Amino acid sequence: MDKFDYLVVGAGLFGSTFAYEAAQRGYRVKVIDKRAHIGGNIYTERIGGIDVHRYGAHIFHTQNDVIWQYMNQFTEFNHFINAPIANYRGNLYNLPFNMNTFYQLWGITSPAEAQAKIAEQRAELAGKKPQNLEEQAIALVGTDIYQRLIKSYTKKQWGKEPKDLPAFIIKRLPVRFTFDNNYFSDRYQGIPVAGYTAIVEKMLSSDRIVVETNQDFFDNKATYLREYPKIIYSGMIDNYFDYQLGVLEYRSLEFETTYLKNVANYQGNAVVNFTDEETPYTRIIEHKHFNFGQQPDTIITKEYSKEWRQGDEAYYPVNDQKNTHLYKKYVKLAKGEPNVIFGGRLGTYQYLNMDQVVANALALVKREFN
Ligand code: UDP
Repeated sequence: MDKFDYLVVGAGLFGSTFAYEAAQRGYRVKVIDKRAHIGGNIYTERIGGIDVHRYGAHIFHTQNDVIWQYMNQFTEFNHFINAPIANYRGNLYNLPFNMNTFYQLWGITSPAEAQAKIAEQRAELAGKKPQNLEEQAIALVGTDIYQRLIKSYTKKQWGKEPKDLPAFIIKRLPVRFTFDNNYFSDRYQGIPVAGYTAIVEKMLSSDRIVVETNQDFFDNKATYLREYPKIIYSGMIDNYFDYQLGVLEYRSLEFETTYLKNVANYQGNAVVNFTDEETPYTRIIEHKHFNFGQQPDTIITKEYSKEWRQGDEAYYPVNDQKNTHLYKKYVKLAKGEPNVIFGGRLGTYQYLNMDQVVANALALVKREFN
């Protein structure tokens, strides 16, 4: 019988990075995933030469030299820069909030004018420290931008009033007084030329790694716990404990993907956000633009945000006070399982970018093997 040193639950970026590093060190690793494919949510499927981001747009970006070099051993990245457009009731604005946006909104042409305008609108906060997403947004960019580009989008995305959401969510977005539409401020950015799935395939292509898809951990949890000395679990932490302390809240997504024959260019940009209340979806992704595709056809995906219910795919943890408190209780419970290590976005209930996922996996590798 094959003996494995590790069972990795979830063939996403976290689990695959760990499996790769463990195999490099001579350990034998079994990787299971409940889906029919590897890659987790970074999975891309090539259709008619276009890499379709099946679980939402993924744009790799990082500030960290080590992580950038690390990823480059598995793939070549192109020079894609994310510069999304916001569509508010048919009017287009550049994102993130920058001098182009301010010009489109107010007709102003200098940073001083933009700063004055925002300062004037911020006055309604009367100098108090922002306590929630709404106040944070107004403090950063004023009421006009809040009303047109943030309020309804955020409500659609999170299913809550911005007043009831933590301020840090909006701090992810840069505000710039330059004409710079780059959504990220990181030094490195790009899309893998061969798709994301190819990265994970490379990570998992070792004769010390055995991958099994269509394998739900919970179908055989007791057996796995008995047979594997150590388990790296990247699924939902509350699910692992059978929700015994309560259910953590997530947002789920629904994707409506359409193949448009003989439409070479549908929207002229990879990402268009729909920031009004009336449009039911939050954004449309046109996948070919991530790779500067010149195909005669195109593929678009409408992304709908929805409440997560048991059985749905969990995408975004809702890191408000209530859930953070519950998560901490699960972390305590996890301490009683010394042979199970919880990691990744779902295992640690955190909103993580891809570079953070890889950094966390490499930190675990250090702890485990040094
Ligand atoms: N956001 C917004 N309007 C936009 C884009 C983003 O109000 O056009 C807010 C919204 O609250 C969102 C948050 O900024 O949840 C973070 O956006 P980001 O684009 O980082 O989210 P992701 O692409 O990771 O879902």
